[in-house]
Amino acid sequence: MEAGKLHEKDQQVLNDLLENVKKQTDLFLGYPVSKDFDYQALSDFLKYPMNNLGDPFVTSTYAVGSRELEKEVVQFFAELFRAPADNWWGYVTNGGSEGNLYGLYLARELHPKGMVYYSEATHYSVQKNLHLLNMSNIVIRTQENGEIDYEDLEHTIRMNRHMPVIIMANIGTTMTEARDDVAKIKSILKKLAIQHYYIHADAALSGTYSALIEPRPAFDFEDGADSIAISGHKFFGSPMPCGVVIAKKSNRDRIARSVAYIGSVDTTITGSRNGHSPLFLWYTIKRLGITGLKTRAMHSLATAAYTEQKLKALGIAAWRNMNAITVNFPTPSATICKKWQLAAEQGNSHIICMPNVTQAHIDLLITDLKAEIVLQD
Ligand SMILES: *Cc1c(COP(=O)(O)O)cnc(C)c1O
Repeated sequence: MEAGKLHEKDQQVLNDLLENVKKQTDLFLGYPVSKDFDYQALSDFLKYPMNNLGDPFVTSTYAVGSRELEKEVVQFFAELFRAPADNWWGYVTNGGSEGNLYGLYLARELHPKGMVYYSEATHYSVQKNLHLLNMSNIVIRTQENGEIDYEDLEHTIRMNRHMPVIIMANIGTTMTEARDDVAKIKSILKKLAIQHYYIHADAALSGTYSALIEPRPAFDFEDGADSIAISGHKFFGSPMPCGVVIAKKSNRDRIARSVAYIGSVDTTITGSRNGHSPLFLWYTIKRLGITGLKTRAMHSLATAAYTEQKLKALGIAAWRNMNAITVNFPTPSATICKKWQLAAEQGNSHIICMPNVTQAHIDLLITDLKAEIVLQD
């Protein structure tokens, strides 16, 4: 065998994997990732060890990276989320979970004795992050639709009003895509005369398009958030997981620490940082612009409305939150769940109408569901 060349049987392993990935990508309605991207134009960048280690806004001695583009990506989201014009900062993360960890980390540095409040419907990674950060926390009940129960929140904060309040608000919960209303939460804090508080918005799923729809949900900096995290591989679409976190620069400054070895400032969670993922986000922003992104959002909402109506026509109890691209319904058979990769939790499943999902996909699923209903009768 020639050195450096793959053995035939190893090549076959790769070919088989590629086939399987292609096939599994086709039938994919249960998880919130877009698949309608084409980053071939960026493939030459795979030849280089791009690494944005350190703070994107402070140059590093390590110069093979995409900092300049990363800064543009951060600026795009800071403006989209109406961050204070002279007081924003952020970076491209490895995903929504890291952005949430970052928000909680900032909150803890500002309010070491704070109590974290988050709803039952919060993403599973948040509890782990609270454990990592060793922060006191209380789970708040949710309403039927997955939104935080504001009465329970108010009551619980009242019982602990001697402690600073840290809120992890969900802007699109994992199961039902419910949005907690940040303005409403802020009014509760005001009513209880809470002096010290921090609100982080977990907008992993719905962040980008929440800023593009009417009526605009209350979730961003102007509504009262102190930091916002999104996932880049969800609505935008990316071959590898990534995300963005936006925070107030004044808060970031409190944790900044200069590191001689990298010639930059250590303000992020990890050391080495993916230098390729900012390219994907930048490319999509430049190619689509706000108008293109809005078109994608409208397409997703229309597909969701279509899905809800088709399921209901079959006699299935489907429903969705206002302006949500997630359609909820009772979990179908194991065969259908496996084929369409539908998650199930306590008898509930969902279809997430990401921008790549079309009515044709939905029609195929509906055909499968219909066939099972006929069999049962
Ligand atoms: C996807 C998601 C996360 C986690 O984001 P990753 O990008 O997978 O790390 C957190 N919260 C919510 C609501 C999500 O939908």
